[in-house]
Amino acid sequence: KAKETGRNALRFFDPAMQTAVLERATLEAGLRKAIEGDQLLLHYQPQVVEGGRVTGAEVLVRWQHPQRGMVPPGDFIPLAEETGLILSLGNWVLETACKQLATWAKRPAMAELSIAVNVSAPQLREPDFVQKVLDTIERTGANPRRLKLELTESLLVDNVEDIIQKMFALKAYGVEFSLDDFGTGYSSLSYLKRLPLNQLKIDQSFVRDVLIDPNDASIAKTIVNLAQSLGLGVIAEGVETDAQRSFLADAGCHAYQGYFFCRPVTVEAFEKFAQDREPHISAA
Ligand code: C2E
Ligand code: MG
Ligand code: MG
Ligand code: MG
Repeated sequence: KAKETGRNALRFFDPAMQTAVLERATLEAGLRKAIEGDQLLLHYQPQVVEGGRVTGAEVLVRWQHPQRGMVPPGDFIPLAEETGLILSLGNWVLETACKQLATWAKRPAMAELSIAVNVSAPQLREPDFVQKVLDTIERTGANPRRLKLELTESLLVDNVEDIIQKMFALKAYGVEFSLDDFGTGYSSLSYLKRLPLNQLKIDQSFVRDVLIDPNDASIAKTIVNLAQSLGLGVIAEGVETDAQRSFLADAGCHAYQGYFFCRPVTVEAFEKFAQDREPHISAA
């Protein structure tokens, strides 16, 4: 009993813990301000197919903190998910991406490009998620066929029926779905055939050592085969070298994202990257 009290007391007065709580509160207040203000921005990472043509971009949120500088999403997305701030953050990301699609639609060189947006579990669980997405598409004038939503397997642990229904509702308008970080979660393979997915995204943890770790090589190949036999597209993320790209191409994966091609960059830099690799444009 004394031991228990002691442990609790120790925990309560643990200065490191207090600092962490304070830090968290500060971060949460800061994030709230960032969403309301204009401290968030999107970086665009090209998605490239065999031959180098750019098919679109994944948008990755960045927090331009006035004191801390650029805060990576890994440092604030989990907090945003826990606090519910992900809902307003997610709305902003989707709105910004859809506005960009509408802008590109007016430029022949950019009109075919798609944008992939990461969607977190709390967003998808919102009862009005489908309506919100459709409203955003309509308000911005984006082509829903150019919008791809990236979901993760971890999202498929509970309320799968509800999620499947929402996916079908959006698919009816042409919205596409990609299963992000594929292979790292523990979703049942039986879901794969029930979800209206367009694409599996091979997680970067398998791509990293694909040339040196036979297990990662097997997993990468298996994911490609699985995608093919289910009639789904497949894209590899985290491709950093030409050797990795070449291995994946031999395995049958012909779409890539990674530092070997381009890091996540500003929209202006992305547009330049895409145009420089568009054969019709450079010929004109
Ligand atoms: P993700 O969706 O799996 O995004 C891929 C991550 O890998 C990005 O990290 C990207 O910068 C990084 N990456 C791309 N190519 C390479 C490469 O060749 N090598 C290596 N080592 N890394 C590469 P980032 O931007 O830090 O984002 C981390 C995660 O944060 C994302 O993982 C995603 O889960 C989440 N996230 C980012 N933006 C959003 C957003 O707008 N909404 C939500 N809900 N989550 C987001
Ligand atoms: Mg993603
Ligand atoms: Mg990923
Ligand atoms: Mg990830």
